[in-house]
Amino acid sequence: MSDAISSLSHLDCPKCAAVQPADAIAHLCSCGSPLLARYDLARAGATLTRDALSTRAWDLWRYAELLPIRDPVRNAVKLGETVTPIVPLANVGKTVGIAMLSVKDEGTLPTGSFKARGAAVGLSRARELGVTQFAMPTNGNAGGAWAAYGRRAGMRAHLVMPKGAPLIHRHECAAVGATLTFVDGVLADAGARCAQIVRDTGIYDASTLREPYRIEGKKTLGFEIAEQGGWRVPDVILYPTGGGVGMIGIAKALHELIEIGLIADRLPRMVAVQSAGCAPIVRAFEAGARESKFWNDAKTVAYGITVPKALGDFLVLNAVYESGGCAIAVEDDEIVQTRKRVAESEGMILCLEGAATIAAAAQLRASGWIRDGERVLAINTASGLKGDLTASAP
Ligand SMILES: *Cc1c(COP(=O)(O)O)cnc(C)c1O
Ligand SMILES: [Zn+2]
Repeated sequence: MSDAISSLSHLDCPKCAAVQPADAIAHLCSCGSPLLARYDLARAGATLTRDALSTRAWDLWRYAELLPIRDPVRNAVKLGETVTPIVPLANVGKTVGIAMLSVKDEGTLPTGSFKARGAAVGLSRARELGVTQFAMPTNGNAGGAWAAYGRRAGMRAHLVMPKGAPLIHRHECAAVGATLTFVDGVLADAGARCAQIVRDTGIYDASTLREPYRIEGKKTLGFEIAEQGGWRVPDVILYPTGGGVGMIGIAKALHELIEIGLIADRLPRMVAVQSAGCAPIVRAFEAGARESKFWNDAKTVAYGITVPKALGDFLVLNAVYESGGCAIAVEDDEIVQTRKRVAESEGMILCLEGAATIAAAAQLRASGWIRDGERVLAINTASGLKGDLTASAP
């Protein structure tokens, strides 16, 4: 794959349009917005073709032109990031009236969640830019992934986690030798502590969207969805939304593929699924707002989507609005019941966040928002085995 070279050109700000060079360490724009990586798409499109892809390894690095790593041979941090399977849920689909209901199962990625995508690409690029240690707040899966990939890269990881985060995440981070700090409260409190550590020590801030490359990793989810569908996108994609990076990433990926002509100019309707116990994006959507407000007393069994206020909320809402999508909340007991139903009828154990997307699909079909015959793809963001299988609604 000697012709596959990153076509990364610069970083730009989706809020104020400021431009920054891509080959220096960057965090937020001076206006406070996340920065996005931009590519020379004409150049990328010249080599990122269906033919070229047919000879490349079946992992996320196959989209090298649209990834930010200039020297993958030297800098890519790998643990086996396979393209994840898309699994039809025929039985559940029949029950809820969606004949073509499938789930993209991110549980098969290293560390058991799709956070591996962001960690693999984010840390590869950080390594390429000379970073040797980093800090970030986490509800769990991101910490597990960044700790593992950090170790793989020979870096020191400092993770800040709410005390209430599931125990498995403490153990997986500790197992690979990460430094862990626990705080009372929710992810926002962990974020505040992390910011303080970054201020005091000057180490690299790898918090969600505070560096531009995690999203580039999560973007590969969108590339895979398009390629696995034979370069035809589904009608509806349901995504369990916390910080929303996966949602922003899928939308960014599809825009890039449209630009280089690999898919038609039609976006799937993007659905941001949240838990009723923490639904700032849903509340904003219902108000027709462009940004969300901090959600007080966030509490849900779906720990991975307990994000009271996301830095990239405006990008998530934009992805929803521009695609004709929606945002919807589901109750915790429904999430738990749905996981049980899917396991019993399909033999597939979803994570609670993934189960939320199936519950949402059922509701949207019942209301007629999802129409007869539409192709619906739900994202199961982690292995069901990583969470507490006995979890019941509070
Ligand atoms: C992190 C996480 C999410 C939410 O991902 P965002 O990109 O932050 O919205 C969903 N599900 C699981 C299992 C997660 O770990
Ligand atoms: Zn800006």
